[in-house]
Amino acid sequence: MSEIIIGIDLGTTNSEVAVVQDGQLTVIKDQGSALLPSFVGLSDNNEILVGETAKNQYAAYPERTIKSIKRSMGEDVQVVMGEQSYTPQEISAVILKRLKAIAEQHLGHSVTKAVITVPAYFSDTQRQATREAGDIAGLEVVRMINEPTAAALSYESDQKTHRRVMVYDLGGGTFDVSVVNIENDVVEVISSHGNNHLGGDDFDQKIIDFLVDHLKEKQGIDVESSSKTMARLVRAAEIAKRTLSDQPFAHIEEEYIAEKDGQPIHLSIELDRKNFEAMIEDYIEDTLESVHIALSDAQLTASDIDKILLVGGSTRVPLVRECLQKKFGMEPHSEVHPDLCVAMGAAIQAAMIGGAKVSTVLVDVTPYTYGTSAIGHINGEYTPFMYCPIIHKNTPLPVSKSEVFATSSDGQEVAEINIYQGEDPDALNNIEIGKFTVEGLKDVEAGNRIVISLNLDLNGVLNVSAKEKDTGLEKTITIENVISRFEEAQLDTARDRIDAFFAINADEDASDIAPTGKDEHHEARSLIEKAQGMLEKANNEDREDMVNIIEALNAAIEAEDTQKIAENVEQLSDILYYLEN
Ligand code: AMP
Repeated sequence: MSEIIIGIDLGTTNSEVAVVQDGQLTVIKDQGSALLPSFVGLSDNNEILVGETAKNQYAAYPERTIKSIKRSMGEDVQVVMGEQSYTPQEISAVILKRLKAIAEQHLGHSVTKAVITVPAYFSDTQRQATREAGDIAGLEVVRMINEPTAAALSYESDQKTHRRVMVYDLGGGTFDVSVVNIENDVVEVISSHGNNHLGGDDFDQKIIDFLVDHLKEKQGIDVESSSKTMARLVRAAEIAKRTLSDQPFAHIEEEYIAEKDGQPIHLSIELDRKNFEAMIEDYIEDTLESVHIALSDAQLTASDIDKILLVGGSTRVPLVRECLQKKFGMEPHSEVHPDLCVAMGAAIQAAMIGGAKVSTVLVDVTPYTYGTSAIGHINGEYTPFMYCPIIHKNTPLPVSKSEVFATSSDGQEVAEINIYQGEDPDALNNIEIGKFTVEGLKDVEAGNRIVISLNLDLNGVLNVSAKEKDTGLEKTITIENVISRFEEAQLDTARDRIDAFFAINADEDASDIAPTGKDEHHEARSLIEKAQGMLEKANNEDREDMVNIIEALNAAIEAEDTQKIAENVEQLSDILYYLEN
């Protein structure tokens, strides 16, 4: 048997380890998650903490917790953690050592070799530092590959055919775009561009600003001085952003968000996807500017690109896909998990070096686009049958998506909903797979909003609902076998694909370090101690919040109520984080 070489994505925010074993690709989970937060810390007993536990203590103990060490790789600096200082290589080595242990636990034997990914823009010094980190962790880095190359490998099993792929990678805090050339078994980055300070965190900030302004204008309160309120807004904004990736509206409901003249203030507002898109369009425009630069650096134009791959959590924002589709006239691909495809590509490269055969990474996706029709224009011509896609082809299953439409005439009490399968902008050129009417709509002016939701499951069953937004009046239909155009043999392949997909997620219990209840209490108690030490520094409002949470946390510890402990630890950590930053 050939020696197993692991594949590692050593990321700024999260890191992952993957492996190919008997032709089967697995991203290895630790404590139920494939993402290991790239945080390293020291506990108050001077024990080393890596991942979630280190991340959890960051708010309370930033002086002995390190995050985003990747940004310092290759620099001649030392970072302080507790009483001592360390090189970036040493901190990265701690993360690598943890990933090595996770892989060893999963495989049941020791591992000594790895393929590690690095950003395409990493200099020789940064690459050398990464190699040294591997050495320190007891891993021989048999090859270092560029992250976009790894992403391309996770999609392209056949490297013989000549193709040019664009990898668009938008994460929480960084953006990169690369043009990758695939020819005769050589996969190489031919140009790369990006912005180290652009990502989903900026999108969150726009929503936070919007909420702060709303509270100022509508309630006359300024919440920016309250860390507790701001921490809640940060969390609510990120949740709303994720909701808007699948739904046309997000409701933001935060009770008792603040107080005015002794009266509680509740935040209740609806954010519309269109408004959110207007907030972030300049950021997306900036990314397209980088796309343009990467293309001209490669001396190519948009039409030279064969395939666009989406990498990074923020590519789930629909506007990203739409803008790329408009620019390139083709659907971008995101069927391999955008957070895991880099680690998968590293493992595929590792297996190839080790001489193992790798079957393609396959996930179950819809091969067709599904949508409805509306009044609109096709090539400037008026039509009542403009196709409006809702679920795009190549989306992993199961999937639920909603879009909002509006009635076109005053007093319209009936809406006819047609559902199509296909890609043509003219709905009549697609296959109509279902239709129904919603009757009894409110007698109002044109513009009455109807939300159409499509839910497609792994068995090809499509549930469709149309709901009048203002009244909740709803009609639903189920359309069976919408993917049944599969031949029987294709169905078998699809089943195998699904099995393979789930096998990737099947290693729930690879962990050997599940935290015990006792440890959680210990963490909570340390946090209380820390918060008590900071009460003096806090303003009156924060102090009152902190005292209340400490009280609730003590009661939860007393009652051994794990959920309440976790909730209060989270709230208290958020406040401390704000006070310290
Ligand atoms: P990454 O650095 O690739 O892990 O990406 C993290 C970023 O992706 C964060 O800003 C997340 O809020 C964002 N993200 C994750 N899921 C979604 C989603 N469904 N819609 C929009 N943004 C998302």
